[in-house]
Order: sequence, then C-alpha cells, then structure tokens
Amino acid sequence: MTRVGVLALQGDVREHLAVLASLGAQAMPVRSAAQLDAVDALVIPGGESSVIDRLSGILGVREPLRERIAGGMPVLGTCAGLILLADRILDAAPGQRTLGGLDVTVRRNAYGRQLDSFEAAVVLPAIGAEPVAASFIRAPVVEEVGASVTVLGEHEGRIVAVERDGVIGVAFHPELHGDDRLHRRLLERVG
Ligand code: GLN
Repeated sequence: MTRVGVLALQGDVREHLAVLASLGAQAMPVRSAAQLDAVDALVIPGGESSVIDRLSGILGVREPLRERIAGGMPVLGTCAGLILLADRILDAAPGQRTLGGLDVTVRRNAYGRQLDSFEAAVVLPAIGAEPVAASFIRAPVVEEVGASVTVLGEHEGRIVAVERDGVIGVAFHPELHGDDRLHRRLLERVG
C-alpha cells in the first residue's frame, strides 16, 4: 500500500488525509523527520506558508524535506504548499524560506484584498476535460516558469498549476470540493 504523508504543521491537513484514504492510500500526518522517512509521497497543504516554514525549522524537518524533495519524492503542494515548493518567492514574509523543488517564481497573496477568496472552475487538461472546482484563498500565482516546468493550468491568463516530474503545485485548494484527480496524479507518480 502506498504511504502518503500530509505535512501537518499547520493548515488544512484533515481534508487531504481524507481524500488520500478514499483513494486507498495509507495516509498519515508528518510532523517529524522520522515520519517523513516512512512515506513514499507527500502533500503540503494550504495554510500560511511562512508559519509552515518557521515550524519546519523549529521541528527539524526543513532540511529532511528539502533533501527528500530534491531526491525525487513525489509531492503535491496546494496554495501555501505551492509557495513552499517554489524556488523563488515574491512578497515573502520577512525571513521566509522555501523548500524549493519547482523552478518557478511565485507571488504570495497575489489576488490582493478585494479578491481575497473566491471560487473558480479551472481546467487542467492533463487531468481531464472536466474543470476543477477550485477554492482560491489568499492564493498565490506563478509569475515565471523555468524550462523544466510544465504549466498545467491557468485562470484568467495567470498560471495557477504547474508540474515538474513528480512535483505538482497548484495555487488553489482542490480538496475542499472533494476533487481527487490531483491526488490520483500524485499516487501515479510513486514508482
Ligand atoms: N497566503 C497564504 C500564504 O502565504 C496561502 C493561503 C492558502 O494556503 N490558502 O501562505
């Protein structure tokens, strides 16, 4: 059985665990380097990327995460998770670091105040013609994409979903409406 962790330092951990379990994976929260060692793939959930970053340092899991991601572990990052996977962050919080893994530049809180949160149907042709019911909650956007990265989807001309090998990053929350296609894609990436 595929063991998939959900980084459980802060954010919407439970929803991801539920989607993964419904797909037949052994889903487990990850808060330590030892727990990270036990999984084949990882979801980094939405939440507040600067808080997740800080806690990962305090709990000694930041460097192990960087190493696993650089070593090819399949990862799905949603919203704050996308920010943590980006090699470069614009409008980062003071001192905020990134795990890296995706050669992209991501802007935090890119939709500003008046569009703080909204829902949209986003088509990701790689996962199917049916659009994802996507919740954008103080969401980032991808502003630059390196040659190694594939754009999976856009919303109103802005890049909101990207992938490089087994590393998938989306600016929105797909899990809040029970869409499991991105989690399925993550599971397919486990060798
Ligand atoms: N704005 C948040 C951040 O900077 C991300 C919001 C989310 O994950 N829904 O981390």
